[in-house]
Amino acid sequence: MFLEKIHNLRKSLIFRLTILYAVAFAVLSAIGFLIFYYRIYAVTMESLDLELLEETQKYTALMKEEGLEGARSAIAEEAESENPDEDFFRLFNFKGDILTSSDMSSWGTVDTQGISSKMQKEGLSYVTQTITIPERDDTARMITAIVGPNTVLQIGESLEEVNDYLDIFLKLFSILIFILIIVSTIIGWLLAKRATIDMAEVTQTAEEISNGSYDRRVQIKGRFKEIERLGATFNRMLDRIQSLLKSMKEINDNIAHDLRSPLARIRGIAEMNLLKEKSIDEYKDMAASTMEECDTLIDMINTMLDITEAEAGVNEVKAEEFELVALIREACELFRPIANEKKINLKTNLPESLTFKSDRKKMQRIVTNILENAIKFTPADGTVAVSAAAQDGEVRIEFEDTGMGISENDLHHIFERFYRCDRSRSQGGVGLGLSLVKAYIESMNGTIRVWSTINQGSLFALKFAL
Ligand code: ADP
Repeated sequence: MFLEKIHNLRKSLIFRLTILYAVAFAVLSAIGFLIFYYRIYAVTMESLDLELLEETQKYTALMKEEGLEGARSAIAEEAESENPDEDFFRLFNFKGDILTSSDMSSWGTVDTQGISSKMQKEGLSYVTQTITIPERDDTARMITAIVGPNTVLQIGESLEEVNDYLDIFLKLFSILIFILIIVSTIIGWLLAKRATIDMAEVTQTAEEISNGSYDRRVQIKGRFKEIERLGATFNRMLDRIQSLLKSMKEINDNIAHDLRSPLARIRGIAEMNLLKEKSIDEYKDMAASTMEECDTLIDMINTMLDITEAEAGVNEVKAEEFELVALIREACELFRPIANEKKINLKTNLPESLTFKSDRKKMQRIVTNILENAIKFTPADGTVAVSAAAQDGEVRIEFEDTGMGISENDLHHIFERFYRCDRSRSQGGVGLGLSLVKAYIESMNGTIRVWSTINQGSLFALKFAL
């Protein structure tokens, strides 16, 4: 149980983010500290070297003025006044013979000849170095300088004090880094927690939805842009799921109401013929009626599927270039015989040419559906006018008729599936045409608007971006 909790904690995003933050902080602080520490060390050594060099220059001048004896007595004096554990002074020749020296009992063996011959070989006037004194477990800074002919001066200064300071500094910095790591871990944990609170909300909403609350949405409070985007995308996905569910429910309702009637009619025809003995011609009539009803049913089902597909955005909208004016003209020619029969004046007001890039087949069905309605719902001697124009980066297509019109109340419903206005019921049709038109237009990112006055006519205006 406990082990499982630890395992889960190790896999949690908060834990990982916190650790990452703390480790990154610790590494960066340590690097910063090391750079700082070595800078301090280098500066200290530089100033110490300068001091030692000035000291040797003093003896070089003395050698010139007072010779070896003068330097010897000055060293003896200097050695007297200094603590022999902290500093040493030594004068020797190039062979390594000691000419004079302070008390070096606590300094162990410090090289003389090796350094002086190296200096001679390389033509150096002085050399500084840090030496370790194993006897004292300490380090010292030492300068070896040529102060006169065949005379080398060596001065050593214990680094005990400097090392003590650096040790204190090191300890202080370690404590500071330790505190900073704890603080950064807490800050990292709080930040990770804050970021994941929003994620937890998305998860909770997803859980509620999986239990059936499809109307729940994630609160977008704008704490973090990324989470805000996740929430917005999640909500958009939910809107889509909800609209798909709504259309599925509508389809179920439609099947229950509207597909039932043709089926009931088919059954009625069959039943009537079963009850009474009929002639062969009557049976043929029955078969013809059944086929007609079946065709209507198939048409209805196909159109419903097309509407659902377009609304759900299942199929990609094809983008092909075509001549829109030619497409409209072809549709008008298709309906002209019916218009002529009804003595309807079918007029067009179209430009020479208008190229449009979209789904040609869908546009064909949109135009024929609206045109068919306009002719169907316009009485004899009426007019149906079709126009198209391109302006300000968009295409407008208008269908105007002088037909029976649509009431204010019906106008809100004509795009619903199976909706047919009461006044038009005698005209035939199933009420799916305009639903399909709207679903197609929206899938092509277009808009449709309708203006209508009872007994005066209607205007259907379509707009698409060019
Ligand atoms: P259908 O034409 O098969 O009845 P539609 O979905 O195409 O179905 O149209 C829905 C309803 O809108 C029609 O039944 C009709 O009442 C009304 N309608 C559509 N176009 C017109 C029009 N041009 N004039 C008058 N009413 C119309």
